[in-house]
Amino acid sequence: MFCNTLHNNHRITPAQTRPAAPKQGAPASAEFSHNPQDKVVLEPGTYSVGGLKSGDIGPAVDKARLNEQLAPNADGNYIFEQGTPGFHAANSFSAVARTIKFFEEGTGMSIGWSFKKPQLDVNSDAGEMLNAYYQKGEGSVNFFHSTDPKTNQVVWSGDSGEVVSHEVGHAILDAFRPAYLMNWRADCGAFHESFGDMLALVMSLQDDRVLAKVVEQTGGDMTKPNLSANLGEELGITINNTSGKNRTGGDYTRTAINNLKWADPKTLPNNPEDPNELGSEVHNFSRLWTGAFYDVFTGIVNENRAAGMDAAQALREASNEGLRMLGRLVKGAPRFDFTYKDMAKAFIASDRDGNGGKHVDLITQSYKNRGILPADFSLSEVGPSPVPRSLTDEQAAVQKDLVPLVGDFGNFSGAVVEVPRDVDTPRFAADDAALRADMKHLIDAGRILYTEPHQRITTKDLFDKNGQPYIGVLRWKDGQPVIERNQVVA
Ligand SMILES: [Zn+2]
Repeated sequence: MFCNTLHNNHRITPAQTRPAAPKQGAPASAEFSHNPQDKVVLEPGTYSVGGLKSGDIGPAVDKARLNEQLAPNADGNYIFEQGTPGFHAANSFSAVARTIKFFEEGTGMSIGWSFKKPQLDVNSDAGEMLNAYYQKGEGSVNFFHSTDPKTNQVVWSGDSGEVVSHEVGHAILDAFRPAYLMNWRADCGAFHESFGDMLALVMSLQDDRVLAKVVEQTGGDMTKPNLSANLGEELGITINNTSGKNRTGGDYTRTAINNLKWADPKTLPNNPEDPNELGSEVHNFSRLWTGAFYDVFTGIVNENRAAGMDAAQALREASNEGLRMLGRLVKGAPRFDFTYKDMAKAFIASDRDGNGGKHVDLITQSYKNRGILPADFSLSEVGPSPVPRSLTDEQAAVQKDLVPLVGDFGNFSGAVVEVPRDVDTPRFAADDAALRADMKHLIDAGRILYTEPHQRITTKDLFDKNGQPYIGVLRWKDGQPVIERNQVVA
């Protein structure tokens, strides 16, 4: 299913010949600057974007468009020097196009965006910030630049294929499970983050050069540190240099290799000083799910090796299977609200129903080891997968309920909270008690932005002083304070 000749990673200098004119009906393609990792760990190469068309502004494919002008070189390709605006644009656009294509082909699932627009906008350098985000309201992924105070080098988040895949992961998950970005539970926000990281992990291993490097680093033993498990290396180094301390735990933004164990996020600090401790902040808490998924991934690599494959083949097959697993997981995922335990059960059900149960034992054991599933967990607790429905129906099913925050919530007392509800399902009072507990934890951790009546709020206001988007924002509607979920996710 995965055609490796699509990659043309070894060529950095522009091709000297103009690509043949597309045959009638055949999709146009061009080579784009592309780095599936970032320049700290891998030199950029190129990637051939197929199905290329002229967008309203820059180049486009069916489901994404570059939201800025970018002229090709004389040979029709989009290959630029690192550090130039052309490179940032070409890399972020090609990484978006590649992620969409590989997800759709790898899973057999067609993406219909939740933001009612055929194409995801790609903003390759939206200003100065040490981050990247998906903005549902605009239907865009946004990348930024920041100067590393230690090295004085400028770092562009869109130069990293992993960072780009992570943000596209938010958009993809939002297409299939639109209620999640209205949900307040840490597990749900963290799963969104983990989905981006899991997708970035398997996407980067779809690249031959990354695969070869990982084989060199691990010999096929995926418990060893490697550039696919470490996500967003350049961004992470800059985060640590900017804060003057080891905030991330190493030379990465996050790593999938960890030993984190389940704890109720409401009992955890938001972001503990020690990066090796689990926190309830969504990126922090996502590491637990990603770690468990990586254990499953490692188990599949080991099974492949035991079946006689060499390390490279074992990894390639595991990466293909990883994409398929993510697709099955999305299909089988709860629609509205869930804990990690619920999602682990859905993961098992998705393998049982979509893969003949081949990895049921491996998934069960990995999620038990993490404490996400209890030690006495039995497979009889795994229910049916949700009945499939079209993305249009999925998106139309999400209704908004308003739940009053009864009790002492400081500034936020008297507000109502927007929560998602399935059009067909009533909301229960018990859900409201759980919601209030989640809101209390988020408010105490400073994760809900308070605003005054008539205050104008820009997208920039939706980020805290550490550059992380707030989880929610209190806005005034006809004199009534309403707490909405922030639909900007980094
Ligand atoms: Zn994210």
